[in-house]
Amino acid sequence: MAKVESFTLDHTKVKAPYVRLITEEKGKIGDLISNYDLRLVQPNENAIPTAGLHTIEHLLAGLLRDRLDGVIDCSPFGCRTGFHLITWGEHSTTDVAVALKGALEDIANKIEWKDVQGTDIYSCGNYRDHSLFSAKEWAKKILAEGISDDAFERNVI
Ligand SMILES: [Zn+2]
Repeated sequence: MAKVESFTLDHTKVKAPYVRLITEEKGKIGDLISNYDLRLVQPNENAIPTAGLHTIEHLLAGLLRDRLDGVIDCSPFGCRTGFHLITWGEHSTTDVAVALKGALEDIANKIEWKDVQGTDIYSCGNYRDHSLFSAKEWAKKILAEGISDDAFERNVI
């Protein structure tokens, strides 16, 4: 089976919340795609409950696109400790962390239920499993701890 970089990361050595560049992938005609680890909570110590994580997912989809060029996808890890962010081109982890911080600040302070996209039976695969309350509480916790642009040293932006 193919070796996957994410599974070679020592999850006991990281210090969440952080942004980490996982890989840069070059296409055949030179296009560049970057894959980031947006780690919101400490692995094996915490996990965001699915309803809150699901609502954060729906919100980051729009809020990160507002702040960062070339966003392709932002999807939750199965372990519920964070998200993969895939983008066209290169961004520094500092720029990604600043965008993530701004998005979480909006979730914590500005977003109302009417602002959440995709919360009905037509536009979501599990529309009953959302919690904006949980999303806001976890966003506040992550912001209070600060987002580092380095996975191993706390360098809070
Ligand atoms: Zn959904």
